[in-house]
Amino acid sequence: MNSKNAKNSFEVYGAEDVKHCCRVLEGAKDGYDCYGFGINELVYEGIANGFNNYRISFDLFVDASNEVHYSTFCTNSSNLFACIGLRNKSHCILNRQYTKEEYEKLVPRIIEHMNSMPYIDKKGRVYKYGEFFPPELSPFAYNETIAQEYFPLTREQAIEQGYFWKDPEPRNYEIQIKNDQIPDHIKDVGDDIINKVIECAHNIGTSDVPKCNEQCTEAFKIIPQELAFYRKMSIPLPRLCPNCRHYQRIKQRNPLKLWHRKCMCGGAQGNPSTGSGHSYRNAATHIHGEHPCPNEFETSYAPKRPEIVYCEACYNSEVV
Ligand SMILES: [Zn+2]
Ligand SMILES: [Zn+2]
Ligand SMILES: [Zn+2]
Repeated sequence: MNSKNAKNSFEVYGAEDVKHCCRVLEGAKDGYDCYGFGINELVYEGIANGFNNYRISFDLFVDASNEVHYSTFCTNSSNLFACIGLRNKSHCILNRQYTKEEYEKLVPRIIEHMNSMPYIDKKGRVYKYGEFFPPELSPFAYNETIAQEYFPLTREQAIEQGYFWKDPEPRNYEIQIKNDQIPDHIKDVGDDIINKVIECAHNIGTSDVPKCNEQCTEAFKIIPQELAFYRKMSIPLPRLCPNCRHYQRIKQRNPLKLWHRKCMCGGAQGNPSTGSGHSYRNAATHIHGEHPCPNEFETSYAPKRPEIVYCEACYNSEVV
């Protein structure tokens, strides 16, 4: 929304000149390959960098800083290389203080070394200067991160691609309410539901329907405030554990993916039903007149979805 030159980017609000970025906030400029940043300028391959950064790269959680590279959790700093947790510092390498002159001499030597003796991971992938940290140095397993929400993998796929996988920890509980015993209506739920161990619908894996890949906890409980809320709003009890519910909500959103498509406006008659989807009759005249609209564009609506997708001009003619 309200953005300019945002290419292959998602959830971008009021940003300019960004590419391959996701979750970008008002005032961001010149970002590439980043997830989550605010007012930053010239930011490359970063995760969750905060506000007021300038010229930073390969960082995580860097805030109010400039010329900070391969660093994490640093704030209000400048000219850092491979540092962690520094505040109000400048000209540091691996958290060690140098003079400006030493720093400017050392960093190019380290970069040269990174290129001549790069890190090579278990899969044989080479990480020279210019690559983000390898996933095998991540303290988190693939399925513990939001990567699994946006780009779900099976355990086998993740391990094959060189990621860690966190297997569920064995727990000691007994399911007290089987999933098919959950009452349909909240009025049939007694106070004794509190603290009962309820089975998630996804726990019932059969050879035909395997268990889900949604970090299912297999069972869940209801807390008193939650029960009071369901009663007040007359909402039935959930049938899925919180993790599986979370994944169902994500499925309702469009994926972080674009398809090249043609405007579906067929001219004066609009978009008559093709049998599978909706139909729509135009109420206004469009710039392309009687003929089908020739515009093509990128959209996060997959071609086989039922929605009618118009180009911006046709959409504006009808809606605005
Ligand atoms: Zn579940
Ligand atoms: Zn159009
Ligand atoms: Zn049109």
